[in-house]
Parts: sequence; structure tokens; C-alpha cells
Amino acid sequence: MQTAVVTGASSGIGAATARRLAADGFHVVVAARRQDRLAALAEEIGGRALPLDVTDRDSVATFAAELDACDVLLNNAGGAWGSDSVEGGDPADWQRMYEVNVLGTLHVTQALLPLLRAGGGGTIVNLTSTAAFVNYEGGAGYSAAKHGQHALTETLRLELAGQPVRVIEIQPGMVHTDEFSLNRFRGDSDKAAAVYADVDRPLTAEDVAGVIAMAVAQPLHVNIDQLVLRPLAQAAQHKVHRGRLFEG
Ligand code: NAP
Repeated sequence: MQTAVVTGASSGIGAATARRLAADGFHVVVAARRQDRLAALAEEIGGRALPLDVTDRDSVATFAAELDACDVLLNNAGGAWGSDSVEGGDPADWQRMYEVNVLGTLHVTQALLPLLRAGGGGTIVNLTSTAAFVNYEGGAGYSAAKHGQHALTETLRLELAGQPVRVIEIQPGMVHTDEFSLNRFRGDSDKAAAVYADVDRPLTAEDVAGVIAMAVAQPLHVNIDQLVLRPLAQAAQHKVHRGRLFEG
């Protein structure tokens, strides 16, 4: 049985992907900071829960030492904090976003690369965003972090050329998860809800999980370098259709 490690598995896309990969036959190691959520998920999917703070190198080292295999690594832990302009932005938010999205991916990837190589064929999936290639007002700190995570991802693919380790980047647009927008708007549920208001079927965490599982399921010689997925209602970052799109 192959082992998949999913960071940020305590909610949203990470939890949905852990469920999906377990259903596809992987032994799934779920990792994040909130252990109560992870324990319940691990029990549900027959996986293993381990504590992990991706921004803390000691935590990452302790986590990696617990593993004896890793065939698939999903670097999903991440998020957006704050929606301020460049002029008004809090550097602490920028720092946090860089630490979680970019350095978090770096720390976990560095720690698990030996295991990814050891299995004879490994897969790294980095969850970036459409914000990795488009900028929008109020999103500079998050976009800068996701651009950085994208740069890490592309560079890693080049540096691993000649080794049996794939590097895949998944770039979702609008995904309606429980916590992402709440975190961005500092717990303001009205502002968070407004993001998805009247959007007929934003992507769900399960939609993204299905695409990740599809990419992982390709034969090892097939590398989906980069894959953008958006809801049909979002033709581009600034072009979101609000109103009925589907019947029923
Ligand atoms: P979410 O529900 O807020 O999930 C974020 C996960 O990251 C949580 O499980 C959280 O767990 C974990 N995390 C945060 N800081 C961490 C840390 N220091 N160490 C370990 N884990 C940490 O958000 P989501 O919507 O599922 O997003 C998942 C990923 O997709 C993120 O990288 C996000 O940027 C990206 N994305 C989201 C969207 C969207 O519209 N929702 C679109 C494109 C890309 P703990 O708090 O328990 O540690």
C-alpha cells in the first residue's frame, strides 16, 4: 500500500483530499496543528494523524522522523490572512503568509524528499492558487506568497530532472471551504459569505480533491506540471458571474 502525506488536513481541501486518497487505496498520513480534528479524520479513513506546524523546522523534523514511507506528498497547508491594500497592509500578515505558504512547503519538501526518492517513484503536489499568476486588489500579500510557492515548485521540478520524483502544481480559483475566507477576513462571516454570494456552485473541496487524485493517479511517467481549475461561474479572477447558471 502506498503512503500519502497531506499537510493542512484538518479542514477544507486537505481533509477532502485525505478522504479521497484513502478511498483510492492510499494509507494517508494527515497532518496539521489541530489534533482533535485530525484524530477524527484518521479514524474515519483508517489513516494516521500526526501533529505538524509547517512553519516550525523542529516540528517538521519530529514529524518526518515518525514516517517510514512517503510516496505522495500534498503540500496543502496554507492560507490568506488580511485583505488590505499594499499601502495599508500589515507586514505581520505578509510574513505569516510567506511562512506558511512558501517556507512551509520548503520545510516539508526538504524533510520528505529522501522518503519520496526511496520508494522508487515519488509525487509532490503543491497546492498554490490562481493567485500564483494573477494579482488583484487587496490580495498582494497572498499573491506574493503564492507566486513564491509557484517559483519554488517550478524550480524544484527543474532541479529534480533525472530523478523519479514528479512535481505537480494545482491552481484552484474560487473554492468555497469553511475557513479560508473567514481567516482572510479575520472572522467576519458577512465578508466571507460575500465572496461566494450568488455564485452558482463555486468549487468545493471535494472538486479540488478529485482533480488532485486524478493527477496523482496518472502513470509515474506522466507529469501534470500545472493545472488550473475554476468554477464555471468564474471565467477569470475578476470575471465572476453572480446569478443562476444551472437549472435545478
Ligand atoms: P483551510 O480550510 O483554511 O485549510 C488550511 C489548512 O492549513 C488547515 O487544515 C490548517 O490546519 C492548515 N495550516 C495552516 N497553518 C498551518 C501550519 N502553520 N502548519 C500546518 N498546517 C497549517 O483552507 P482551504 O480552502 O482548504 O485551502 C487549502 C489550500 O488551498 C491553501 O494552501 C490555500 O491557499 C489553497 N487555496 C484555497 C482556495 C480557496 O478559495 N479556498 C483557492 C486556491 C487555493 P491547522 O489550523 O489545524 O494547522
